[in-house]
Amino acid sequence: MKHGLKITVCLSALLLLKGVTGENPTTHSFDWPVEKDKKYQLSSTFGESRLDHFHNGIDIPGKGTKVLAPKNARVLYRVHLDETPGEMPFGGGNLLVLDHGGTWTGYMHLQSFAEKIEKEETLSKGDVLGFSGDTGHSGGAHLHYFIYDTKEQAMINPLLTMDATHYHDTKPPEIKAWGVLMPDNFSTVNPEKTFRLTQDYPVYVWLQDHGLTSERWGVYEYHVFLDGKEAIGARFDKVFMKDGVWRTSSGLAFEDVYFRNFTSLTRGVRRAKQVKIEAQDIKGQKLSETFQLQIQRN
Ligand SMILES: [Zn+2]
Repeated sequence: MKHGLKITVCLSALLLLKGVTGENPTTHSFDWPVEKDKKYQLSSTFGESRLDHFHNGIDIPGKGTKVLAPKNARVLYRVHLDETPGEMPFGGGNLLVLDHGGTWTGYMHLQSFAEKIEKEETLSKGDVLGFSGDTGHSGGAHLHYFIYDTKEQAMINPLLTMDATHYHDTKPPEIKAWGVLMPDNFSTVNPEKTFRLTQDYPVYVWLQDHGLTSERWGVYEYHVFLDGKEAIGARFDKVFMKDGVWRTSSGLAFEDVYFRNFTSLTRGVRRAKQVKIEAQDIKGQKLSETFQLQIQRN
């Protein structure tokens, strides 16, 4: 499921082909991109850490699942592995990008394309696009689905564009661990006990959201308060490209937000007595925890 960086290259090229401006994609104006009589549970959410980049779409698991046009479209771009010998482009395997008039949707790792895609340019909502698979850089069969707004030049969280009843999230996020990043190593710490911070090293927490059981999703939003003052926060409604770097809607780059799977509490933690961490999933279920820290500063 490593494809964020590579799609960046692809999208930069595609930007030259910018479409016309359409309606705002962050309304529930798109249908699900897969057959809905089956039940799905997402395997990855938007904005998760992919170690060096934000996950820029959602992952819907399954092999051979019918992938459907979420609204009327024209075919903008298609990479067919059989027609593209040698290095696989962008890691997306069999890849399709549709234009809905200012908003694009993308479909990666497809097992195969539907016949209509090979022949026709114009598609109607509900048309079969192909079948999900695990072509390209993919850790198991799934559809990586992304939405790109050409006007904002932003990747949009697809869950904001479609009916939320087709996946289940009844659990709020939780904090799995704390860690400190020092010049030579990253080590986990226990916030309930005294720990040592001799410099303003950045402190992190591993935030994880679960759906029904043990899904390992990222959170939709988080905020950190040091002694009552907000120190950092991010919402994964979209990521946009600025100065050659993908950023959250609040302008944070990947390195500002994450270290591996850990989320930043900033470098200011060393001087704080109290840290409050708030996070929520996209269905609004909240985590709020306050820690009284005992930091040994020298
Ligand atoms: Zn993905």
